[in-house]
Amino acid sequence: MNISRRDLFKFAGISAAAAAITGCSTKAFDPLPAKVAAPASVMLGKHQVVIIGGGFGGLTVAKELKKIDPKFDVAIIEKNDSFMSCPFSNCNLGGIEGVNLGTLTHDYSQAIEANGYGMLTAVVTGIDRAAKVVHTSKGSVGYDILVMAPGIDYNYKGQFPTWDATKIAKAKRLTPAALVPGGEHIALDRMVKNMEDGDVVITVPAGKYRCPPAPFERASMIANYMKKEGIKGKVIILNETAEVAKGAAFKESWKEINAGVVEHNDNCKIVDVDFDKKEITYVQTVFANKEDDEGVKTTKTLKYGIFNFIPHNMSNPVIEMSGVATTPDGFKKVKMATSAEKPVSFQTATDVSVYAVGDVVGHAIPPSGQSAIWSGKECAKEIAHVLHGKSYSVASALPYKSANVCYSMVNGNPEEAIMVNHEFMVVGPVIGSKGSVPKGDTVNDKFRSTGLGKATRDWYKGAMRDLFS
Ligand SMILES: Cc1cc2nc3c(=O)[nH]c(=O)nc-3n(C[C@H](O)[C@H](O)[C@H](O)COP(=O)(O)OP(=O)(O)OC[C@H]3O[C@@H](n4cnc5c(N)ncnc54)[C@H](O)[C@@H]3O)c2cc1C
Repeated sequence: MNISRRDLFKFAGISAAAAAITGCSTKAFDPLPAKVAAPASVMLGKHQVVIIGGGFGGLTVAKELKKIDPKFDVAIIEKNDSFMSCPFSNCNLGGIEGVNLGTLTHDYSQAIEANGYGMLTAVVTGIDRAAKVVHTSKGSVGYDILVMAPGIDYNYKGQFPTWDATKIAKAKRLTPAALVPGGEHIALDRMVKNMEDGDVVITVPAGKYRCPPAPFERASMIANYMKKEGIKGKVIILNETAEVAKGAAFKESWKEINAGVVEHNDNCKIVDVDFDKKEITYVQTVFANKEDDEGVKTTKTLKYGIFNFIPHNMSNPVIEMSGVATTPDGFKKVKMATSAEKPVSFQTATDVSVYAVGDVVGHAIPPSGQSAIWSGKECAKEIAHVLHGKSYSVASALPYKSANVCYSMVNGNPEEAIMVNHEFMVVGPVIGSKGSVPKGDTVNDKFRSTGLGKATRDWYKGAMRDLFS
């Protein structure tokens, strides 16, 4: 991996200016000639606050810190050179008016210019907490405080222990999950926009996964696209459990808008996929009643035209690199600090200098962009108080109504959406949440409404404004 002059300028220029003001030990970097490989041992500099991940959580923490005190020396390390939003991406797949891949893509330099933090485009490859150093593909960066906001990764290996690296690579390439920012959204977009008659299969994983309503919204939107383009076929959901986020609202819309097109199947465990034959083998369990633990299992096969294969999720490997304590489940959420003074916190339980926000946190809040924005603001307040020698407890902001409001578009003509609203509160040592799915159209007694369709667009615009201006 090579380091360019532009990368160093973006990172060093801002950090050097901030260091002069705060007096922290950052020194300007010597520009390396372009195309000279930089080993991890090259020290690029040191910052008061280093944030791993320029997504919903990381960008918010950086912006809020600079808003609270422009003298703070803040730098983000992000592997992608542009931002692509997962929220609203299903509207692109659905062929919603005026929405395209460009709508989802944003330029990091806009956020850097507007907010004055630094950014290094590099992949984090290791974290040495004892030395307070982050290793990247372009060199190492020191920190006083580290914030981890790297989002999720896919756990194909945990779900399919017998699959080798070649088969997992094939799964990623041919049946993209499109649950993380980047090229997978482009790949899935290409598949949907070039599709012929046939069935689209979407899997819903068990365990904690990013944005629980996303696979169901995707089913509604792909069905919308098929209707709009006159493509014949079904959208078949293979759900590993019987849980459907915003369930009553999605099921109402599928029945009334997508009858015979969207088919939802409970308790379907994927056993294998033959990517050459385009065939999925799965076991469906039918339970007689709530007391029935065993159920009746049937092995089935299903041919697909397009497969949006969403595997089990887990915390991004950056969390394991840091060595902080995590929960023992497959996802491995970061264990968060708790004390009498600060019952709930975005500081990790393991290291007072290391914080976490976004989907990786060990709080019982939805893994959503809106939660990441809320958490990012609170995390920034905590860190700012520490840097100013004061104390702040996130518990003082709780309970908080509408901390997470999440919309899902379910129809394209007219544009209609459904919503869930979460209140956050202190529940023992963590932040808990309680969600409700209100009816958007109380006159006709429906969950979906055109008002919520407009609110979906407005939410996306507002979130992008929050992150990039
Ligand atoms: C289809 C879909 C629809 C969604 N719709 C909504 C919605 O309507 N509303 C809502 O609130 N939420 C929605 N979400 C959820 C939302 O996208 C996530 O919850 C949110 O992005 C989490 O923020 P984060 O900061 O934890 O992670 P991300 O936003 O994923 O940011 C993590 C960043 O870390 C970077 N990174 C990872 N590893 C490294 C590394 N080793 N080195 C350097 N950088 C690294 C990544 O490139 C990424 O930019 C949706 C998600 C999906 C998939």
